[in-house]
Amino acid sequence: MPGFEIFGDEEKQQIAEVLDTGVLFRYEFVNERRGIYKVRQFEEEFASYCGVKHAQAVTSGTAALKVALTAMGVGPGDEVITQCFTFVATWEAIFDVGAIPVFAEVDETLNLDPVDLERKITPRTKAIIPVHMMGAPARIAEIKKIADAHGIPVLEDTAQAAGASLNGRRCGSFGLCGTFSFDPVKTMTTGEGGMIITDDEDLWRKMSEYHDHGHDHVVNPGGRGGEGRSFVGFNFRMMELQGAIGLAQLAKLDEIVAAQRRNKAALRKMVAALPGVSFRTILDPAGDNASFLAFFLPDAATTRRVNGILGQHGAGAVYFANNTWHYYPKWEHLLAGSTLAQSGWPFKEADGRRRVHYDPAALPQSAEIMDRLLVYPVPVKLSDERLDQIGKAILAAC
Ligand SMILES: *Cc1c(COP(=O)(O)O)cnc(C)c1O
Repeated sequence: MPGFEIFGDEEKQQIAEVLDTGVLFRYEFVNERRGIYKVRQFEEEFASYCGVKHAQAVTSGTAALKVALTAMGVGPGDEVITQCFTFVATWEAIFDVGAIPVFAEVDETLNLDPVDLERKITPRTKAIIPVHMMGAPARIAEIKKIADAHGIPVLEDTAQAAGASLNGRRCGSFGLCGTFSFDPVKTMTTGEGGMIITDDEDLWRKMSEYHDHGHDHVVNPGGRGGEGRSFVGFNFRMMELQGAIGLAQLAKLDEIVAAQRRNKAALRKMVAALPGVSFRTILDPAGDNASFLAFFLPDAATTRRVNGILGQHGAGAVYFANNTWHYYPKWEHLLAGSTLAQSGWPFKEADGRRRVHYDPAALPQSAEIMDRLLVYPVPVKLSDERLDQIGKAILAAC
């Protein structure tokens, strides 16, 4: 699963180059940095890897979502549709720009169901965020078609799908923009970090300036202090050390994915022995980044029983139906409208009126799917001993 498994001399070398200059900041210090711009180079190489024109590095995948939504002009009064199976960050960012998250069903791709997406569109829908969960693509062609017909931009949350593609095109490059995370458990990592990719130059310029306090980023003979501002910004800047690690990790990404594919195939062969098992719909197996193996059993009771046995044998799978970070009915703070704001924002208006209410039973199709789902994270390094242990656990469960 994560790139930290293969940290090595490449990362050390990259970091040493930064420390030797003494410049940890991505801008300025022209004389001291001796031509070394790690974050900028990381952006350029990441954009090129994804086959897009522009990339904007930021401090996290959550920041990437917030910066992208802000640059897209999404704010109070707007609704943003996303899927009910995702990490909390996706909807935290929607709330954080002042908009309201609207949750849609997933299908057996474990990603946004286009049929339910269309039902959830209203005149207030200002963005659609499909998530390429667990390294495999959403039905992005159908989603784009629906979005285009309604004139709504698509932001792909690609946090879990670095290195994944669909029919030869990188995940994250289909919509207006795509966001990535390089947090410690992602396919490639910089400790903390994120990236937004886009072909839209105007959107990229807005993201670039917003993430840096609004500095206008036009070439300015007066230097950084002399730059003007077109709008209010914030600070989501990535530092040079992260850019340096990112360059080393990006160079290993294809290797990481190849190793995961081998390990996933070995695990899948074993799991296939379970009576009544079926596998997650993967739209393009050749483009799967293979960071997870997801499979279904015939019903919820069997799924729980099987996972109990797997657990007793030291090889329990993730049961997302009970996972409090990734699945809508388990987000108790969302359902309860818990917030630090005394006004109750973002769940209440300033005058105390309820803005939004979330019903835990609102998404029955997803519940039916998630109740039967088990998931093994796929490591980059999988020892024969561990594979053997999982194999024995599966035999016991059979
Ligand atoms: C990890 C993740 C994020 C957030 O990324 P961070 O870098 O941890 O802030 C957003 N969306 C999804 C789907 C994720 O898995």
